Amino acid sequence: MSLFQKTAITLARSPGIGRAMRGLAARTSLARRFVGGADIDQAVRTAVRLREAHGIRASLFYLGEYVADPAAIEHNVGQAIEAATALGQAGLDVHVSIDPTAIGYMRDDALGAGNARRIADRARQAAGGGRDWVVLDMEDSAIRDRTCALHRTLLAAGLPIGLTLQARRRRTPEDLAWAIGQRTSLRLVKGAFPERALDHPGRAAIDHAYLDSASIMLSPAARAAGFLPVFGTHDDRLAGAIMALARERGWAPDAFEFEMLYGVRPDWQLALRRLGYNVRVYLPFGADWWPYAIRRVGENPRNAWLLARSLASQ
Ligand code: FAD
Repeated sequence: MSLFQKTAITLARSPGIGRAMRGLAARTSLARRFVGGADIDQAVRTAVRLREAHGIRASLFYLGEYVADPAAIEHNVGQAIEAATALGQAGLDVHVSIDPTAIGYMRDDALGAGNARRIADRARQAAGGGRDWVVLDMEDSAIRDRTCALHRTLLAAGLPIGLTLQARRRRTPEDLAWAIGQRTSLRLVKGAFPERALDHPGRAAIDHAYLDSASIMLSPAARAAGFLPVFGTHDDRLAGAIMALARERGWAPDAFEFEMLYGVRPDWQLALRRLGYNVRVYLPFGADWWPYAIRRVGENPRNAWLLARSLASQ
């Protein structure tokens, strides 16, 4: 991890800076670039625009992570439920992403699992037989096993639940081997929580591991099980290799998805659409935009000018 990225993560975790930034004008250029709206209505309008203009789908994510206060947890759950309902009403796919640490896992696993079930139940109702997914984001390793256990429990209950796995972790192929036999959706990402003892060493090894996992996700066994592979990456080199592999294995372009973060490489999102691939954006909304947006700056130093412009405009 670069020094630049470490600094961004430190800034993201500082509650004082977070409070100060939240108090600034809600829509700085940094927030506008990476956040799809300050509330559900704006986020759904953004999702409708992307769908109508470009055929790009969205997964709504209410900003707020690592929350222990009961009222804040309930608020986060309510926002995810309302987002699912609003997507259904707008005639869009009902697709929301949730962080286990936002919905109760910081207090008590039973509370978190119960809340995830409430969100998934509502997503199912809101979709009314259309597409519906609630995808669990994967956070740091302290919550990994509990996130995987939650995925299995809700899947066994017949709920539309998907999971994110991080290619950087050496253990990921074991989790994949189970998941590809299920009617679930699995989003493969490189991973934003480096932990040296658990990870492949270095970028090249992580990219290599990403492609190994992609190959498992595009196996005949996965296709037979009705598994939906989702490749969460902005890396065009990896995407190119995945497209070639999918073609070779007989996967139709609309049988899997590429997913990217809202505001990141929009040119590449459109290029994939033109090639006939399903593209989804992870579309965060809400007022607590600072930790999320500053992490995006850390991922690409070229985004630092957005930060500078946002601060200068206050
Ligand atoms: P990189 O090698 O980092 O980037 C590839 C290319 O994209 C490079 O050209 C790079 O400059 C460009 N790029 C990447 N990020 C940016 C940016 N912010 N701004 C501008 N250009 C950029 N991580 C988790 O640990 N848990 C999760 O649950 C999780 N969910 C995610 C969901 C989605 C849909 C996506 C897309 C990512 C998610 N991530 C998650 C983050 C992920 O792990 C990576 O940190 C992030 O996607 C960057 O990796 P990359 O695959 O894009 O490759």
